[in-house]
Amino acid sequence: MATTTFTKKALNVETIEPAVTPPPPTGNTSFVKKPKLAGKSRKRDIPEGLWTKCPKCSTMVFDKELDENHKVCPHCQHHFSIGSRERIHSLVETCTFEEMDSSMTSVDVLGFKGVASYVSKLENYQKSTGLKDAVVTGIGKIGEHRVALGVMDFSFLGGSMGSVVGEKLARLIEAGTEKGLPVIIISTSGGARMYEGMFSLMQMAKTCGALAYHARARLPYISVLTHPTTAGVMASYATVGDLIIAEPGAMIGFAGPRVIKDTTQAELPPGFQTAEFLLDHGLIDAIVSRKEMKARLIDYLDYLTAGQRQAAAVG
Ligand SMILES: [Zn+2]
Repeated sequence: MATTTFTKKALNVETIEPAVTPPPPTGNTSFVKKPKLAGKSRKRDIPEGLWTKCPKCSTMVFDKELDENHKVCPHCQHHFSIGSRERIHSLVETCTFEEMDSSMTSVDVLGFKGVASYVSKLENYQKSTGLKDAVVTGIGKIGEHRVALGVMDFSFLGGSMGSVVGEKLARLIEAGTEKGLPVIIISTSGGARMYEGMFSLMQMAKTCGALAYHARARLPYISVLTHPTTAGVMASYATVGDLIIAEPGAMIGFAGPRVIKDTTQAELPPGFQTAEFLLDHGLIDAIVSRKEMKARLIDYLDYLTAGQRQAAAVG
């Protein structure tokens, strides 16, 4: 039986090597990534917003625990930043806080030109924080004391002091003077708001002027410095309190440490610009942890208003 075999040669086709190895690169040398197998990830899914890593001791803290502890790390007592609303809630008796000037908003007086306009920045921060500006002011009760209370919020443009912050605080202090109430301002700020230029700087004089009238009426002013309180705020109303207290570890200063180091060409001492350092050097009167803040404020108010209450009793 005759068999017919076909060879490549017989077919008149040129013999080529089988493509065992890929053809040599032709300019494009990138490696093709293996496609990932979907649904086989071994990474444990940790829902976001349940745990927070403490920046000081690196412990993972359960968010609920952190909230219940006034945003203070239960392991190392690191004080996390806290919003103005939460702060007011932790200090003022329930349903006693009457907010003032809650709808006051900044205007772009300078027509500030930057990467983003000042107006759009304001709108974004108003949306993300639910605040109109970087301070909440009002009159409320702490213990048995009615006080004029201003609380700054770092989450709104770094707690920067523009016309609205200055105006709201000045009105708060004037209301305190008029009603014969102590003033408490809880500060946290990166300083004056650059988008309002000179108008921001003028708030330093305005707030201090209002405080001078308040002091003339022999009414107490307690300034509470929280992390961080710097620049124009530190150089005005934050450091002219009858009592100046701070939270542990708060950074308090005018210019940043690097600027000071470069200007003075001197080594800065350890712990420079912390609340603890400033207590040792006499700038502040006490360091009070957030958990004790309300009780201590009541003690101070009891002491500072004793004469006022005595005079009222005598008539
Ligand atoms: Zn910690």
